[in-house]
Amino acid sequence: MTPNESAPVSRRTALKIIGTATAAAGLGLHRAAAATGPAPLGWDLPPLGYAYGALEPHFDARTMEIHHTKHHQAYITNAKNLLKDHPDLLARGPEALVRDLAGVAEAIRTGIRNNAGGHVNHAFFWKLISPVAVVSVQQLPVVIAESFGSMDGFKKQFADAAMKRFGSGWAWLSAKPDGTLVIHSTANQDSPLSDGLSPVIGLDVWEHAYYLHYQNRRADYVAAFWDVLNWTQAEVNFAAARRA
Ligand code: MN
Repeated sequence: MTPNESAPVSRRTALKIIGTATAAAGLGLHRAAAATGPAPLGWDLPPLGYAYGALEPHFDARTMEIHHTKHHQAYITNAKNLLKDHPDLLARGPEALVRDLAGVAEAIRTGIRNNAGGHVNHAFFWKLISPVAVVSVQQLPVVIAESFGSMDGFKKQFADAAMKRFGSGWAWLSAKPDGTLVIHSTANQDSPLSDGLSPVIGLDVWEHAYYLHYQNRRADYVAAFWDVLNWTQAEVNFAAARRA
C-alpha cells in the first residue's frame, strides 16, 4: 500500500479526523474493505467478515456470536428442513422465495416467510455493520437529507420506527420501485422484499439482538447502531435498488 492509498483506520480515528465536518456536510463513514454487491444468497451461514468482538463496545461479542451461530443458523436450518421435499423451491434461493411468498406451497408458506425471511434479513444485516471506518463522501446521505429534512431528522424518524415496533421485528430504510426512500418497520422476520421494497438500511430490534448488553434499553441499542453502520454497504444497497 502506498502512502496515497486510503488506509483503514479505526472508527475512533476516523471520527477524530473528520470531526464536526461529518454532521455538517453529511459525510459518511464506511468500511475500508470493498463493500460487496448483492450476490445471490445461498442456504449456508455467511461469514461475518469480522470478529465477534470487533463491534465492541457498541455490539458485544457474546451477543454477536449467539446471534450469528445460533439465531441466524436456526433460520437457515429450519428453512432447509421445510424445503426438504421442495427441491424446486430450494433451488430458487432464499431471496427469490421471500420476494414471491405466494409462489411457495401454502403448507410451508408461513414457515418460509419466517425462516427464509430471517436468513435474508440477517445476511443483509451482517454486511451492513462494520468495525472499520474511513472518510467518504457519498450520494445516499444527500438523498436521505433531501428526503427527511436532514440526516438528524432521518435518524430520529428511523429510531422512532425502531422504538414503535412492538415486540420482535425490524426497522428499515427502503427504496420504493420508483427509487424514493421510505422509513418503515416490519414484524417478526418479514422482509421489505415481500412488499416490493428494496432494503437500504435495516436494524434488527428483536431482543436477541441486544438483550445481553442493553437489557430493556432498546433506545441505547438503536443509538449504538449509528456507530457501527457501514455507510458504504448502505450506498451499495441504494445503488442496487435504483438499478432494479
Ligand atoms: Mn436477529
